[in-house]
Amino acid sequence: GDADRHVGLVVLGAGPGGYTAAFRAADLGLEVLVVDARDSLGGVCLNVGCIPSKALLHAAKVIAETKEMSGHGVKFGAPEIDLDELRTWKDGVVGRLTGGLKGLAKQRKVSTLQGSGRFLSPHRLEVTAPDGATTVVGFDQVIVAAGSEPVRLPFVPHDDPRVLDSTSALEIADVPGRLLVLGGGIIGLEMATVYAELGSRITVVELMDQLIPGADKDIVGPLAKHIGARYEDIHLSTKVTAVEATDDGLVVSFDGKKAPETDTFDAVLVAVGRRPLGAALDLDAAGVSVDERGFVGVDAQMRTNVPHVFAIGDVVGQPMLAHKAVHEGKVAAEVAAGHKSAFDARCIPSVAYTDPEVAWVGVTETEAKARGLSYGSGTFPWAASGRSLSLGRSEGSTKVLFDTETDRILGAGIVGPAAGDLIAEAALAIEMGADAADIGLTIHPHPTLSETIGMAAEAFEGTLTDLY
Ligand code: FAD
Repeated sequence: GDADRHVGLVVLGAGPGGYTAAFRAADLGLEVLVVDARDSLGGVCLNVGCIPSKALLHAAKVIAETKEMSGHGVKFGAPEIDLDELRTWKDGVVGRLTGGLKGLAKQRKVSTLQGSGRFLSPHRLEVTAPDGATTVVGFDQVIVAAGSEPVRLPFVPHDDPRVLDSTSALEIADVPGRLLVLGGGIIGLEMATVYAELGSRITVVELMDQLIPGADKDIVGPLAKHIGARYEDIHLSTKVTAVEATDDGLVVSFDGKKAPETDTFDAVLVAVGRRPLGAALDLDAAGVSVDERGFVGVDAQMRTNVPHVFAIGDVVGQPMLAHKAVHEGKVAAEVAAGHKSAFDARCIPSVAYTDPEVAWVGVTETEAKARGLSYGSGTFPWAASGRSLSLGRSEGSTKVLFDTETDRILGAGIVGPAAGDLIAEAALAIEMGADAADIGLTIHPHPTLSETIGMAAEAFEGTLTDLY
């Protein structure tokens, strides 16, 4: 058709899904153009998600640890926080990674085009650059990797600068005195962890009856207890019904059995979930079905209902996590390049990088019960881990679920410092079909937190003898 340029493969969106797909496709010989509205590669994850949040969480961790050690004979003064310098450092971490991606794209001869894309037809995309100039790009195949954006609430004055979403919260423009975190999921609690250590007094409000509703309650428990002692309030089973901007602050009203009185906060962080961007791309012009929530349906090859249109990452469904997007991106690129490939993961780990961290993978106990699985569990409390106590922490716990017929691992939940790193072993065990003896007989280095996984397997087998 009447395109300004034509390429073999367009990747729409340069997040973890998109750049992975683009690089893999180029390595497999396809001619690739990546289109993204941002002026840097990396999408939400690198620019305003995973990476900047982890940099700020590192700062929070250092502050928390100096406080903890102050009670154990090594005293520090109160931290002097220079927000400009902290922001510059965080932006530097992001810049190093997005700059690295730029170099990798160049090496592979992957071309990039900055602008907002929408479909004109099954084989054409219109890209509008920041200056308004448009380019019509024709393609043989396309991978949609447009990701997601924070959900906005109709009763919240989102234009008020005191109302934050994850993107503006990561800018750390200032440290509000009293911060209400609306939503007790992973993103809300990670940002709460950061702001609490920077000096905000935190209140969390969550609609469900537990924080991080996707994880087992017993695994979330130690986190709830830890922050319960440090934050002003945590309101569960509570709904925010109104946020009103006044000169004195944001006046927030609540509803629910245990709902607090109307209260005034210096800032409100809205972290109630993310919305896929599938509905914003005119995909119907390409004949691609998008569901009412904005998700694009795909098969195991990551193909939509239109065979030359693939979709990956947050835009295709939950869990909205970078590592899921990356794996889907590889599959889409391989299939687009004519290879036999399919998304066939047995499990996708989830991690909240809070203090303590909460991580889970495979079947949760809640899910095992709901599905009527014949399962048993082995739990190892970190109060019996020498390494955990040496870190000055004892609240952690490692729980591993096994199939009682085969002894094979079904899932795991871990809470404690570094739980996010530890969960990878359980993910590997699930992928490999390991049973309790495989895990229990694996010699873990002593003294590490990883031992708790072996100990949990031994606890399930009834062979646990060693503590500390
Ligand atoms: P995205 O990263 O969302 O990228 C999509 C890209 O597409 C964007 O750059 C966007 O500009 C572009 N785009 C969209 N529409 C168009 C259009 N029409 N035209 C042109 N370009 C377009 N996940 C983890 O696994 N671990 C974490 O620790 C983690 N922390 C997070 C912390 C925060 C604060 C947030 C917000 C998210 C976090 N996530 C984390 C989630 C993670 O960021 C996403 O799952 C991941 O970025 C999804 O990747 P993606 O490739 O689907 O798309």
